[in-house]
Parts: sequence; structure tokens; C-alpha cells
Amino acid sequence: MRVPVLTYHSINISGNDYADNDHVALAADLRALQRDGWRIVPLAQVVAGLIGEADPAGLERTVALSFDDGAWFDWHDLDHPSCGPQRGFAGILRDFVAATGAAVHATSFVIVAPQARAILDRTCLIGRGWWDDQWWPLAQREGLIAIENHSWDHNHDTLPQTVQRDGRSGTFRSIETWAEADAEIRAAADWLDALLAPHRGSLFAFPYGESNDYLVHEYLPRFGHQHRLRAAFGTSPAPVTLHATRWNLPRYVCGQHWRSPEEFERLLRECR
Ligand SMILES: [Zn+2]
Repeated sequence: MRVPVLTYHSINISGNDYADNDHVALAADLRALQRDGWRIVPLAQVVAGLIGEADPAGLERTVALSFDDGAWFDWHDLDHPSCGPQRGFAGILRDFVAATGAAVHATSFVIVAPQARAILDRTCLIGRGWWDDQWWPLAQREGLIAIENHSWDHNHDTLPQTVQRDGRSGTFRSIETWAEADAEIRAAADWLDALLAPHRGSLFAFPYGESNDYLVHEYLPRFGHQHRLRAAFGTSPAPVTLHATRWNLPRYVCGQHWRSPEEFERLLRECR
């Protein structure tokens, strides 16, 4: 199996072209995948193939989609203050289904802590309350977008305080003790499972794509009875294969690993 996992950030909007707007890129990439004969499968299905719960042969010529951070642009159509009306990621997926009849699915890795999102809404967006979680249960119920764990507070550097013990924020590499990992990962899993019951989360994406030996080789493999996850994703640009590290699976990031339809097609060719 060689499954590319593609990552988009719905708040990446600085223009209305492919290179500076992840909404434009996502819509174009869906059409390219369809043209090129790729099937889109849920990310959890890729993990099931990886860990031997499903036949990996069923993942031939498939891709999985993931979105990061869980802001409103994943779900709502919004009027961007400088770039104008934007179709939300959910609408782009529904448009694609309506136009092609193809199956589509994405996984949103969300920043879980409500108090962190309330601050990030002002520091990273424009302070209009565009980072609340009311859409998460709706998405989970519709079944087009699964909601999964992107940590409690992203250890984000614009927050006055995070769970990191020495105030080293702006990176996830500094989450290197059980107490910090428990607060960033297990506490977020508990909160999400309570909000989305009876659904239970099983996937994690490292904030900034960053991890460390403690998380990948100790905390995540050894404390499964606590965090209840089945796999974790970083941002190394490679397809998921049977040789990939289960607790630091690769993902390609739009705007970082490809910036044009041509680069996207090259990426897909390398995964065939
Ligand atoms: Zn993130």
C-alpha cells in the first residue's frame, strides 16, 4: 500500500488562487483525483489497513484527506475580510459529491480546548467567534467529516499559557513528559469523546507536525489504555506504507509540499 494522506488548512486564505487559498486548491485537487482514477477513503480505513485489521490490498490507488485545526472555515461558508466569500471545506466536499457521485470523506483534526480556541480566534483570525465547536457534532453525524484530536491547546505560541511546563510554546517537541502528554493528548481525547458520544476518537495529528522520541516511542505506544488512540500523524512528505511508523505517519501538506496543480500531479505520480 502507498496511500498519500493530504492535509489542508481552511484558514490558509491570503488570496483567491491555488497557491494562496487552500479552498481553491482542495476543489481543484478533488477534480484531479477523480480524473486520475483515485478513490478517497476515510483516514481511519487507512489505519485499519496499516495495523492489519483490513486487507491493505483494498487501499490500492486510494488517498485520504485531512484538515487541521478545526476552525469554522472547515464547515461554514464565510465572508473573508479581504478575500471575499469562501466556500467552506464541507461545502466543497458536498459540491464534489453532487457533481461526480464519487465517495468522499475527510478527517478534521481539531484544537480541542474551548478557552484556547477563544483566544486563537482573536490572535489568528479576526475575533468573530469563528472557532467554536458547535459544528463538530453536526459533522460527525453527517458522516462526511470525522472529528479527531489535534491536541488540547496546540502548545500555541499566541496563548498566554499552555500545558507545557516551562512555557516553551510554539512547538510540540517540548511536550516530553507523561504529564504534558497526558494534558495535551489524553485530556483532549476525553473532552472530544464526551462531546461526540457515542463516537470515539482514534486518531491524533501532531501540532506543527512536530513530535519527539518520547511521544513516538514511549507515550503513544505504551499508554494506549489511557489515550485510546490507534495512530498518530506527522507531516513528513511520503505515502503511508506498511513500513511507516504507526505513531508518526506521514502526510503531505498543501502549500508546503505542493503549491500548484502540476506539483500535485507529480506528488500523485510518485505515490502510484
Ligand atoms: Zn495545527
